[in-house]
Amino acid sequence: SFTRQISMDAKSVASQLKSSGLLRTQGLVGGKWSDSYDGKTIKVYNPATGESIADIACMGGRETNDAISSAYDAFQSWSKTTAAERSKLLRKWYDLLMAHKEELAQLITLEQGKPLKESIGEINYGASFIEFSAEEAKRVYGDIIPAPLSDRRLFVLKQPVGVVGAITPWNFPLAMITRKVGPALACGCTVVVKPSELTPLTALASAELAIQAGIPAGVVNVVMGNAPEIGDAILASPQVRKITFTGSTAVGKKLMAGAAGTVKRVSLELGGNAPCIIFDDADLDVAVKGTVAAKFRNSGQTCVCANRILVQEGIYDKFATAILGAVKNMKVGDGFSEGVVQGPLINEAAVEKVESLLRDATSKGAKVIHGGKRHSLGFTFYEPTVVTDVNNEMRISREEVFGPVAPLLRFKTEEEAIKIANDTNAGLGSYIFTNSVQRSWRVAEALEYGLVGVNEGVISTEVAPFGGVKQSGLGREGSKYGLDEYLEIKYVCLGNMNKE
Ligand code: NAD
Repeated sequence: SFTRQISMDAKSVASQLKSSGLLRTQGLVGGKWSDSYDGKTIKVYNPATGESIADIACMGGRETNDAISSAYDAFQSWSKTTAAERSKLLRKWYDLLMAHKEELAQLITLEQGKPLKESIGEINYGASFIEFSAEEAKRVYGDIIPAPLSDRRLFVLKQPVGVVGAITPWNFPLAMITRKVGPALACGCTVVVKPSELTPLTALASAELAIQAGIPAGVVNVVMGNAPEIGDAILASPQVRKITFTGSTAVGKKLMAGAAGTVKRVSLELGGNAPCIIFDDADLDVAVKGTVAAKFRNSGQTCVCANRILVQEGIYDKFATAILGAVKNMKVGDGFSEGVVQGPLINEAAVEKVESLLRDATSKGAKVIHGGKRHSLGFTFYEPTVVTDVNNEMRISREEVFGPVAPLLRFKTEEEAIKIANDTNAGLGSYIFTNSVQRSWRVAEALEYGLVGVNEGVISTEVAPFGGVKQSGLGREGSKYGLDEYLEIKYVCLGNMNKE
């Protein structure tokens, strides 16, 4: 139920959502909205005001087991529907997501804080995975292999893995879910989704639209509440054949270890430590624009955010001045306010982490040339910040900042830049700015990362594979490779073909 003490903007958003049936606070189990069995709830907060916006069902192991059973039952029929039927339903879901774009975007801003324009961008991006999956559903097929013996025929079938457990973070409340659920459903799998307790409302609204689209009961289930308990139930169940997780590296490692008990398939999209390398020969405007986008969108809270900005010595001072100019003009505020480009951080702990990383860096010689403190707006607003004289040994270069802080490191040669960039356990996003085709190719090959943006700061799209190497994860999302994560390969050998 919605509480009374919420700000005006949030209030009007809430009443609008209520009237369109998109404001859900219960979990979805077997096609039915359900409270937690013991009636417990937890609060969801608006990070821009600290006010509570909803009380949601606080579910645990028992509800999760029921959701798994529902998904398992639904799998028996969903996996046998034709690709054309699944495609049609996914398309319908996509159409509904687009039809409710404004309300869903408002919901994201309300519970996650990002500026409304970015929330609209997330709906477009998130929904694109459902549209792409609707198309790709029709292209899931196996192979015939030339047999080594003349009386045999060899086939490869691609079949859905089964029930999938999908656990997602708060930084993209819609897109992190659709990147998993779209391809899973396209392949014939059913899912139990556990969204972040910080941002469950967007997940529940999109599940409501899945029902409205006609996706059968039990195909998409949503549970939330006690994360470790829900996680343990998913891991323990032999009926769940795959777990797909986006979130922190620490939790990802726990889930991977836990999946060993039932030998589940595992896909992980974990933390990054993206280098953004600016070479002397880069176009300064392109480099600054790309770096600002890669660093500051979503207040710096994305797994592919530029975490270390490596600048070649010949362009270092010019680049520092130019990025300072860009950052000075950034308007910070409530995501619903006009012209705001940077919203709040998700919570107090996030601000404290940024503060601690900056304290460490400045105590070791880094210099704050802009920002470096909480914003006068209070709560979890933080000033867009630029720090120079950072080196790769400081904590700020070893850990994900997940905040609006741009640390500038200095390097001399291409070789040195690659060495610094690869000196980390992470390997998700990376960026290069250069006008040399040869250099961009050489460096892109040498970077130990799953994604490389050349002269671009934002490169994710549903048609390309997204994922990390090293401790940034396993598997890919998006593109045809993303569907492979939800398919088993079965070899069938037809023998004695010459016998009547
Ligand atoms: P988190 O790991 O704290 O939480 C992620 C999800 O896991 C949440 O739903 C949480 O409730 C759940 N969870 C926590 N403990 C659990 C447990 N023991 N068992 C089962 N589930 C559990 O991460 P977060 O703070 O929500 O998200 C931020 C992190 O996500 C960052 O590290 C970021 O880089 C990463 N991320 C990665 C990608 C990617 O694609 N690689 C994308 C977005 C975010």
